[in-house]
Formats: sequence, C-alpha cells, structure tokens
Amino acid sequence: MAAATLVAHGERVVIVDWDVHHGNGTQDIFWDDPAVLYVSTHQFPAYPGTGRADEIGGPGARGLTLNFPLPPGATGDVARAAIDDVVAPVVEAFAPTWVLVSAGFDAHRADPLADLAWSAGDYSLLAERVLELAPTTGRTVAFLEGGYDLDALRASTAATVSALAGVPRASEPPTAGGPGRDVAARTAGALNG
Ligand SMILES: [Zn+2]
Repeated sequence: MAAATLVAHGERVVIVDWDVHHGNGTQDIFWDDPAVLYVSTHQFPAYPGTGRADEIGGPGARGLTLNFPLPPGATGDVARAAIDDVVAPVVEAFAPTWVLVSAGFDAHRADPLADLAWSAGDYSLLAERVLELAPTTGRTVAFLEGGYDLDALRASTAATVSALAGVPRASEPPTAGGPGRDVAARTAGALNG
C-alpha cells in the first residue's frame, strides 16, 4: 500500500524484501510496474514456491524484479554479494526516490520455520547497504514481517534499527561460508539473458 501510494504521487520505489519467504504478492502487484523495483532474497525451494532467478518482471518492467533464491544453509555473505554485485548497480540506474524494506527476520539461523543461517550481524550489514540504496536520508522505511524465534527476532530487529539509525551494533557477528555462492551470478545471468 505504501509503495502504490508513493507511485501514485510520482515517486520511484525500491522494495527490498529480505524475509525468508518469497514475496509473491508484492511481486505480482508490481510485476509490470516500471516505477517499482522489487528485490527479494528468500529460501528456495520453500513456501510459497515462487521467486526463481528467471522471474525478472513483465514486458513493461523487464529487469525490475530481482529474485535471489537461496539454498538451505545459506549464510549472510550470499545476500551481501547479491546486493553489492547485482542490486546496487540496478538500483543506481533505476534512481529511486524511496526505499522500502520488507524486513522479515525468519532467515535467522534460529528460526523454526526456515533453514537459512543468517545472524543479527547479517541484518546489520544488510541494513547499512539498504540505506546506501536510498537517494538521501529519511527515504528508507522498514516494515516488520516474519520472525518466529523471539530471541532471534529481538536481536535482529535491534541490529537493523541501530544500523538504520547510523549507530550499528549487533549482538552476533555476521556469517559466511555457506552454500549458494553462485546465486548472484545466476540472477545476473537471467537479467542479461
Ligand atoms: Zn516469512
């Protein structure tokens, strides 16, 4: 609703969806909308089953949907590489006026509903990157979504909010070394193919 309202007022919106589940509804709503760039990292395969790398947007918005399907066990470094290597240059060319974050925390390694291996420290680093995607301060808005281990949710939310406030501190170090090193390259290939 926030994205649609902004677009109705002539704004250009990036939605970064780091919830562990693919945002199939958000993708569907903005699939063919050239004013919205939708970016999702999510476990795959997992519910709801969508979000393959080759889902890149409709004919009116080709390349404005970026999906990064992560294998079970993927660590935070894979998401960071996706942002740095693929998302950042696309966002720069898109020139958004707002950045909205679907900030679910169910990719945390302690979450009982999914099998990714992120930590609070990963959310801190992702939040710092997301801030850099916005055109200026005050144009980044995070919306709380999933997160089903309450200790992990508390730590991850604190890490995200502190990073967004410019005073990053996380109670867990970031993670690296898991599977999925080819994910960013596969999405880049889908965009270029
Ligand atoms: Zn979720």
